[in-house]
Amino acid sequence: MNFFDANLETIAWFVYLFSAFLFIQGLRFMNSPRTARKGNFVSIVGMSIAVAMALFQSFYHGFLQISAIIVLLVGIAIGAAFGFVTAKKVKMTAMPQLVSIFNTVGGGAAALVAINDALFAHSIVLSTYITIILGIIIGSVTFTGSLIAAAKLQGIVSGSPIKVPAKKLIDLLCIVGIIFCSYMLISGNNFGYGIEFPVVLLTALALIMGITFVLPIGGADMPVVISILNACTGTAVAMAGFVINNLIMIVAGALVGAAGGILSKLMAEAMNRSLFNILAGGFGDTGKIDSAESGEALNLTETSADDVAVQMAYAARVIIVPGYGLAVAGAQHEIADLTKILESKGVEVIFAIHPVAGRMPGHMNVLLAEANVSYEKLIPLEDVNPMFPTAEVALVVGANDVTNPAARRQGTPISGMPILDVDAAKNVVVVKRGRGKGYAGIENELYGLPHTKMLYGDAKKAVASIISAIKEL
Ligand code: NDP
Repeated sequence: MNFFDANLETIAWFVYLFSAFLFIQGLRFMNSPRTARKGNFVSIVGMSIAVAMALFQSFYHGFLQISAIIVLLVGIAIGAAFGFVTAKKVKMTAMPQLVSIFNTVGGGAAALVAINDALFAHSIVLSTYITIILGIIIGSVTFTGSLIAAAKLQGIVSGSPIKVPAKKLIDLLCIVGIIFCSYMLISGNNFGYGIEFPVVLLTALALIMGITFVLPIGGADMPVVISILNACTGTAVAMAGFVINNLIMIVAGALVGAAGGILSKLMAEAMNRSLFNILAGGFGDTGKIDSAESGEALNLTETSADDVAVQMAYAARVIIVPGYGLAVAGAQHEIADLTKILESKGVEVIFAIHPVAGRMPGHMNVLLAEANVSYEKLIPLEDVNPMFPTAEVALVVGANDVTNPAARRQGTPISGMPILDVDAAKNVVVVKRGRGKGYAGIENELYGLPHTKMLYGDAKKAVASIISAIKEL
């Protein structure tokens, strides 16, 4: 017996432990935008080491036939090329869709591992059956749920809540069916249909539940759903790790599951929703329509870059409110320039950051960090709200839902969501292209207030024109 024969499992254990250490370090670095890139890199190194070790173990033990090795390597090459190219090419504003597609792939892969073990593993013990069943359910729900979420975000499926006819009945039937299939798998009593019957039925029912879970959720509630699905992906991978007894899959899956779970809770709190309501379903669908949705004409007043320049240049404090439109326009560098020129005139400039502004958690922080806006100037919602009454100008750049006072009333799709109290500023200037609505698809009453003025145009050009006008003062 040579050294490797005797010690490979122990070596593998230490290598996996080192990878897990790198994952945790990576997560720690991701705590701040300043070190987030380093965090990504450290995690990539950890994952590469773990994958290399798993492959080496399989080759060494001769678990893999040559055909399986070819399939594996081709799969890794295609997956890595697809991941690399899409992640490089994707626009920042389309990142949530990409994350959702990655969740789809992760959930689907975890479900396939569990299905494979259910069909082909021998002498499975009860605890393994439970992880296999959970792996199939969570993986399949995540697969279809994330696919629908990505389609909603991409606009292929409507972002508004879509009513599923007889949803409660369908959900009930699925749950009863899932319990029945689990009984068949655990008891080994397949009523003479073979093991394929409960496995295929269980997978199909979980896939249906993923669809009925996400379709009725619309607009403003999507961030929390994406985060929950992300946590589900991690949990499904951890389950798959238990099934095939792979330490690093358990650790990595548990880390993603826990991180996604914490993020979901934080996002739910930021949106003033309870996680229970979200998981119980029917959330995001208020069922009522109020004036904010009815298209009641708002009385909008237009302004010019010259007027905005005067207001801002002679202000003591300006609060900039960035939103999704800023990301679409890619106006972060212009905003950074505007900040500098105002500060050179003695104006205090701060940024009001809403936790779900844009299309992904931390979207505005990442954008502004890209333009080197100091992190200290980015003030979170709860701290910045009391500051609005002291601001001469609140400049809203491509933000809509996160500023909509309709959230303070019952019966709107964003009811209960904490918003930035922009309407409390002495003067409000809104930069947007036209009458386009926000993600929740409702009118913004802020725009019709007497002290609000609209500066129409693409955010990049509009902010550049304000800068030129200030320079000419
Ligand atoms: P919104 O999506 O509510 O509004 C964006 C506004 O930007 C639109 O009204 C649009 O109006 C304007 N706009 C678009 N393009 C441009 C442009 N090039 N120049 C200037 N303006 C532009 O954005 P918010 O950031 O206020 O709110 C985010 C919404 O997205 C919330 O409802 C949130 O729940 C949801 N969401 C958030 C996620 C997250 O994790 N952060 C994930 C998924 C959804 P016009 O067309 O007239 O220009």
